[in-house]
Parts: sequence; structure tokens; C-alpha cells
Amino acid sequence: MLVVMNHDATAEHVARVVEVIEEMGYQARPMPGAQRTSVGLVGNDGRVDASPLESLAGVAEVIHVTKPYKQAAREWRQENTLVTIAPGVVFGGREIPIIAGPCSVESEHQIVLAAQQVRAAGASALRGGAFKPRSSPYSFQGLGMKGLELLALARRETGLPIVTEALDEEGAHRVAEVADLIQVGARNMQNYALLKTIGRLGKPVLLKRGMAATIVDLLMSAEYLLAEGNTQVILCERGIRSFDPSTRNLFDLTAIPLVQKLSHLPIIADPSHGTGLRDKVLPMGRAAIAAGADGLIVEVHPNPDRAMSDGGQTLFPEQFERLVVAARTIAAAIDRSITPGSGTRTAANG
Ligand code: PEP
Ligand code: MN
Repeated sequence: MLVVMNHDATAEHVARVVEVIEEMGYQARPMPGAQRTSVGLVGNDGRVDASPLESLAGVAEVIHVTKPYKQAAREWRQENTLVTIAPGVVFGGREIPIIAGPCSVESEHQIVLAAQQVRAAGASALRGGAFKPRSSPYSFQGLGMKGLELLALARRETGLPIVTEALDEEGAHRVAEVADLIQVGARNMQNYALLKTIGRLGKPVLLKRGMAATIVDLLMSAEYLLAEGNTQVILCERGIRSFDPSTRNLFDLTAIPLVQKLSHLPIIADPSHGTGLRDKVLPMGRAAIAAGADGLIVEVHPNPDRAMSDGGQTLFPEQFERLVVAARTIAAAIDRSITPGSGTRTAANG
């Protein structure tokens, strides 16, 4: 439930609403907005009697959020949520950041070179997995802690903020020490224990759509993060399983405008996992920008043919450069722009 305050409601009015919600046995989440403040009521598992709140001074209206995902719903918050992962790298606004880098961190040389190449091409964040969820236990599992150290080094060298995946609860704490944006992968989208842990870490989270997840499943998983008090959540469409093996996944572009209607959270697109095919990444990356994506995450490697994971869907740096150039033109056509690369900013602390 959402208590919307009048434009001229005072801080005392808001405080009284919070007090009454707590007296009712629920938690209150005050949310100052550009126009007016709202106070969310959470902790209920069904309809709440709004009458003790409706009559309070300063209250304009009480809205019952009809969706099962509450805090993730547009009803809860009408303005887009902006998620800032580093100075100038903001998801959900007019600017569209592009995250790029290899599937996995493989060595110091590889990750630093990849970071320099994607930065030169216009990326505003570096991706790279240190803990990898692989279909086979015999496949490369990532460099683990060493991989995190190398990501921190790549950030010191280039200034690019880091996006990397946390696979389990213990690793999540280690990942949070290095990542500017913690990725929850498709396979873990419904790992609710992990979502609760990550929701409490206080860092922005990139939640990728599970390969058999509906849009509502995705938003319910986001709700787990929001319920822990973390509002810094970015969603990601990365393709879903289909009957057709022509592509690795079926890249669901409709998810982008759908989610934007249902939720205030930003949604980005991953055309690399979405297609699984290097030569399809450029057209589908362009299409995602045209569809309104709030960002892209793209696999790029200095030498994709030698990549230790996902090489077949990974772009050569020059292909990535072409994608960024095209993305700029397409973004301009829909009155948006691609976030300038971090080459113009000072390096973040490692
Ligand atoms: C990845 O980003 O490399 C990855 C494993 O993605 P997903 O969880 O979408 O498969
Ligand atoms: Mn990958």
C-alpha cells in the first residue's frame, strides 16, 4: 500500500504517517519524490485497512498496489528509478550506459587489455566473470578471488566501474568488496536466499532474467531485493529458452517496453547471451536500443577465438566499436544518448 502525501504536507505529517503505519504492525518506507512524498507500507500479505491513514493530516490518497510485486511496481513509484553505479554512469535516465568486457576474467593481460579496448570504444563499465556458472563442472569455473583482484586492477588502470557475478552467499560478500554492480545470473534469478543476502549488501544489483522466467517472475525476484531495502536494482533481458535451436536463447525484446510499463526499475539488454551468435549481436544490440533499453551489456574479448567461455558470442573489439557508433545514432533518434565513456573521467579508487 502507498500513502501519497499532499504537495504541501510537512515533515511532521510524514512522520505521523510513519508512526501510524508502525503502530499498525507494518514497516514504513518514506519516499520523497520530485512532486510529493509517498510513504510505502510493507510487511503485509494481503489487503490492509487504510482507514487509520486516510484521515491523517497531509494525506492526499491511499493507493492499494494491485500487483503481486509491490515495490517494483509502477503503481508504487511513477518516476523511473535511477541507478548510479559510478559517477556519471546512471541507468534509467535519458543516457544509456554500455557495459562491455569478456565473459570471464582469464588473466591480467586479458582483462586490462579488454578494459582498455572497450573503454576506447565507448563503454562506460567493464564486465567480467570471476565466479562462473558453467553447465559442465569440468569447464573453466573462473579465477575466483584472483579474478576479483584482477578486476580491481583493471578499474585502477582504466577508471571503468566493474560488473561481476556473485554465485553464492559466501562469494557475494567478496564480490561486493570489488563490484560496482553485482550481477545475479539467469541461473540464480530464483535463488531467493541469495537474493536476500545480496539485497542487504547495499550495492547496486544487476538481476538477469532466468531462462524460463516470465516477466512477473523477474519482477517478483526484484521484489526480494527491494524488500531488503535495496532500491538500486537494474533488470536485464538476456533471452529465454525456446524450442528453436537456431539461437542459443530467444532474445525477448518485447520484455523491454513491457517491464518499463509495469515497473519503475531500469531494464538493460544482453544481446550476447540473448542470441549466442557473434554476428547477431550487432543487429540485436541496435534493436535493443531502438526498443528503449536503458543499457546494454555485451561480451567483448581481445581475441574471442581464444576465450575460455562464450567465445562464439563474443565480439572483437572493432565490432564492439561499430555497435557503439550505431547505438549513438539510434539513441539520438529516440531522443536519448549513449553515456560518454569513462575516458573523460578520473579513475575510481580500486
Ligand atoms: C554471463 O553474463 O556471462 C552469464 C553467465 O549470463 P547469464 O546468467 O545471463 O547466462
Ligand atoms: Mn557469458
